[in-house]
Amino acid sequence: MPRVLIIGGSLGGLFAANLLHDLGWDVEVYEKVGDDLAARGAGIGTHTELLGVLAQLGITIDERLGIEAAERICVDRGGRELYRTRWGHIMSAWASVYRPLKDRFPAGRYHFGKGFRSFEESSGGVIARFEDGSEARGDLLIGADGLRSAVRGQLFQGVEPRYAGYVAWRSIVEESALPAATREWLGAGYWFVLPPGEMMLCYQVPAKDPKRAGRDWNWVWYRPVTPAQLADISTDLTGRNHGIAMPPPLIRPDVTASIKSDARRLLAPHIATLVERSQPFFQAIFDVESPRLAVGRVVLLGDAAFVARPHVGMGVTKGALDALCLYKSLQQSGNPDAALARYDRLRGEFGRRCVARARRLGAYIEFPERRLDQRPERVLHEVAAALSDIPELALEV
Ligand SMILES: Cc1cc2nc3c(=O)[nH]c(=O)nc-3n(C[C@H](O)[C@H](O)[C@H](O)COP(=O)(O)OP(=O)(O)OC[C@H]3O[C@@H](n4cnc5c(N)ncnc54)[C@H](O)[C@@H]3O)c2cc1C
Repeated sequence: MPRVLIIGGSLGGLFAANLLHDLGWDVEVYEKVGDDLAARGAGIGTHTELLGVLAQLGITIDERLGIEAAERICVDRGGRELYRTRWGHIMSAWASVYRPLKDRFPAGRYHFGKGFRSFEESSGGVIARFEDGSEARGDLLIGADGLRSAVRGQLFQGVEPRYAGYVAWRSIVEESALPAATREWLGAGYWFVLPPGEMMLCYQVPAKDPKRAGRDWNWVWYRPVTPAQLADISTDLTGRNHGIAMPPPLIRPDVTASIKSDARRLLAPHIATLVERSQPFFQAIFDVESPRLAVGRVVLLGDAAFVARPHVGMGVTKGALDALCLYKSLQQSGNPDAALARYDRLRGEFGRRCVARARRLGAYIEFPERRLDQRPERVLHEVAAALSDIPELALEV
């Protein structure tokens, strides 16, 4: 049986691992982090195509996986309605997708605490080398190691994530931690507030802990942040700079206080309450485009291949569809070179188009001085739209 080494055991890696395991391949997953990832992550939007891949894997789509947001509503900072439209998408949580994928995959083949260092191609196969000095040999190596992919770094020197000039402040709040009036006002809507050059949105997601009753509220607030400001908010109380990987508990109290006070000033009162009742953290927004997705016996997948800004709401769906395309390509062709060429062509085109669309949706935040179109009618229809409503992304998988 062919053997595949997957670097990165997050969602992209786990989709590929489960699908290729079902194809009868001998699959090993190597994850740098030393323990379960389920405690991390926040809310995610889903697409019919993502639910399709989960269904193919036999994963049940019920209220533990997602909650339907029936309407999108945009309000001003006084809470007055500006625009309302029917919606009907399932909103999920990162952990709700991670958990069933992780549980479905044989535990003995998932290796925590295994940081990949480099690879070497040899006689039709690939050798992966790890930080602990060990190595593994396979017929195929999949780089599913995310934004700062070390696999991509070895394939394409100089292809680096490009900072978009803004960050997503975000968090999750337990519904029970909110005042009754706020719960009632929010209902089950998918809310937007659009301060000039910014975008705040919030929606309900399944409770992070599946044993807990009730739901959580997920919020995301995109705000322009210069590189100098980013360096400041990434610096903890001891003066240490954490780059883009700032652990939420280390964010300085003055930084948190300032985002909470801005929320009171710029957002509708009940939406500001979500910010006030949570521990906000931030993720810097980047674009990544890889020139190729398959070179020899090495493949890139998910965020390692392309990172589109979150406005397309497609990080997880794109990873799942990359994995599905690789699975189908390998299933259909007895020739691995032809299979990988098909994957490279189809997912390369999808990734490039996805990054371009997301960049366009975020352009008004990236360039606030240009005062680009941020009308609610446009934003509410285009952000995280269904794939079936985006002609340029209707591509074969
Ligand atoms: C902990 C976590 C929480 C997230 N939360 C959200 C969220 O709330 N909403 C959302 O839309 N998206 C979230 N994402 C991103 C989302 O999961 C991705 O856009 C999407 O799932 C594509 O995932 P990926 O597997 O390609 O990349 P990622 O999810 O970034 O995963 C890459 C994985 O590779 C591992 N890795 C990195 N370098 C190495 C190495 N050298 N050796 C071995 N392993 C390595 C990382 O630890 C990570 O687990 C989150 C990602 C992570 C890791």
